Amino acid sequence: MTAAPQPEILAAFEAAKGFMPPDEGLALHSAALEAGRLGLPLLEVGTYCGRSAILLADAARAAGVTALTVDHHRGSEEQQPGWEYHDPDTVDPELGVMDTLPAFRRTLYRAGLEEHVVALVGRSPQIARVWNSPLALVFIDGGHTDEHASADYEGWARHVAEGGLLLIHDVHPDPKDEFTGQAPYRIYLRALRSGAFTEVSATGTLRVLRRVSAGI
Ligand code: SAH
Ligand code: MG
Repeated sequence: MTAAPQPEILAAFEAAKGFMPPDEGLALHSAALEAGRLGLPLLEVGTYCGRSAILLADAARAAGVTALTVDHHRGSEEQQPGWEYHDPDTVDPELGVMDTLPAFRRTLYRAGLEEHVVALVGRSPQIARVWNSPLALVFIDGGHTDEHASADYEGWARHVAEGGLLLIHDVHPDPKDEFTGQAPYRIYLRALRSGAFTEVSATGTLRVLRRVSAGI
């Protein structure tokens, strides 16, 4: 079953602030619907303002599972003031630092999806260290440095259940394509080389892998 999201969900996705283009969003949604049939939660690393979380939440609702989304909500390196992907509206006016949690909460509330999502607010490796239950899907879309991407891979890929899916965003096999670098591409290669994951599909910079054996 790869039913497309309802028009109002797609509209909410397209209206939300964020970085995921519609073709990749549809691929994410369809992977999430499929993985949800395992009856286990779906987890995202990198909530930002909730754009991709809308699609995970909609798939979670259809599957009767919960979507979890991890972010410290202080922004990645390239989203900080003065950098290419900075959005001044994401700055908390009182503190003068980024805080994307309010925008995320508004996005999910408006989409009517609040009850299908649990937001885990904190640093990804710190949350991964206390996590100990299997997941139907892990979607890695957090920090783009090698430090962050490797930690996300090492912290979360091992929780993907057998038959479940590991999704990696911003995979750029050609170094010329993207100035935020190739760390996501490197963890994608690690996942394939581990032998535990096999590639299911590629849409834009989104890669969908399936766990075929235990191992990592
Ligand atoms: N999935 C979002 C985009 C995520 S942008 C969308 O579809 O629009 C990447 C996010 O990862 C940022 O919000 C940033 O705060 C978060 N992030 C980066 N490194 C992190 C870390 N180590 N722990 C938790 N969140 C992190
Ligand atoms: Mg991304």
